[in-house]
Amino acid sequence: MATAAKILSQFQAAGVETCFHDRHIDPQIYAGLNGANWSIKDYESRGGYQALRKILGKDGSDGLTQDQVIATVKESGLRGRGGAGFPTGLKWSFMPRQFPGQKYLVCNSDEGEPGTCKDRDILMYNPHIVIEGMIIAAYAMGISAGYNYIHGEIFQVYERFEAALEEARAAGYLGSNILDSSFSFQLHAHHGFGAYICGEETALIESIEGKKGQPRFKPPFPASFGLYGKPTTINNTETFAAVPWIIRNGGAAYLACGKPNNGGTKIFSVSGDVQRPGNYEVPMGTPFATLLDLAGGMRPGRQLKAVIPGGSSSPVLPASIIMECTLDYDSISKAGSMLGSGAVIVMDDTRCMVESLKRLSYFYMHESCGQCTPCREGTGWLWRLVDRIHRGDGRPQDMEVLDSVASSIMGRTICALGDAAAMPVRAMIKHFRPEFEALIQKKNPQAVASA
Ligand code: SF4
Repeated sequence: MATAAKILSQFQAAGVETCFHDRHIDPQIYAGLNGANWSIKDYESRGGYQALRKILGKDGSDGLTQDQVIATVKESGLRGRGGAGFPTGLKWSFMPRQFPGQKYLVCNSDEGEPGTCKDRDILMYNPHIVIEGMIIAAYAMGISAGYNYIHGEIFQVYERFEAALEEARAAGYLGSNILDSSFSFQLHAHHGFGAYICGEETALIESIEGKKGQPRFKPPFPASFGLYGKPTTINNTETFAAVPWIIRNGGAAYLACGKPNNGGTKIFSVSGDVQRPGNYEVPMGTPFATLLDLAGGMRPGRQLKAVIPGGSSSPVLPASIIMECTLDYDSISKAGSMLGSGAVIVMDDTRCMVESLKRLSYFYMHESCGQCTPCREGTGWLWRLVDRIHRGDGRPQDMEVLDSVASSIMGRTICALGDAAAMPVRAMIKHFRPEFEALIQKKNPQAVASA
């Protein structure tokens, strides 16, 4: 509780009204939010659906045109919160609004990146903020049908979102002639099938179509050939959740929450060797040290060794580098990693980096869909090599072979999973090579790391 209060007071001290202050979630306030204040009544009492009324001119104003909504989102500096960080307003402007046939809007709630657990909380505790964000996006792009693809293993969340959809339909916010306007939008929940790769946007599209969830070649991109071959825009759950606040308060106000080119706030899922793992929403550009402090700091007597800053596919950064970083796309990228989905995995000085890489490599080998040879075969080789080193059977040339296999995967696959498997390997070798070499030379890697 103290953590949530602390972070809220930081916002207030900065004179910033928080976008999702009810989503400053940590393990101590889960119970307070679960089932208590997610409903449409509660959401409306927090200003919910006011942004929708604003764009439709149902608040006594003239309303906003499609171009004005897109311009506001562009001005906000909102970047996709699913991992890629692509500017949201720019993505919306790619939708061919004059296309005469059906167009689709898709929310990617297939949150499967190891370390990430924010989207499920947004949907569980504040589902209407996503629904309102999607309705506004559909209005801006002239779309009349949408789906929210929800991760397969979280059926409770799916049920919660379905219940929220029913409430929104009953209140006239969804369906035909929304709030007695000429705008109609039908939104459906779609239950995912539990594969990590279904979070890749074209695999997700295939999955909604009832096919095996495998990524498509790009181009064509979904904006021109997406769901059922129609123009489609896909955004992440947290991205849509940011939209109502932006429309209510203006793009400039949202941008001011963060830093230039990195507007607004971001939820970070902090896990690993901290005292208070949980989801923390902080302004973009917050120093990493502040987030670590919010998460209770390191376990007693332990030192920070390394951090994976953006989910398991982002390159690891040693303590000396991450402690100098601020949490935004540009700073983390400059440090040699990615902000990704904001899954911050903290590792202390008891962690063996060879074992950590072994676990990561196994995950990607297991989740490869098998379409492309470099990924299908390469991820297997990466895991076997790291496993061999970890078992103490490594050979002196294994480090070069590891690097060579990782290089052979990168940039040679249909989707980003290949790169996601290769990047952690290269980063581990770059920053923690002595630990690998110690195991190959049958020395104690932890002693080497300490030295
Ligand atoms: Fe499938 Fe891997 Fe190729 Fe992606 S990179 S399409 S997961 S085989």
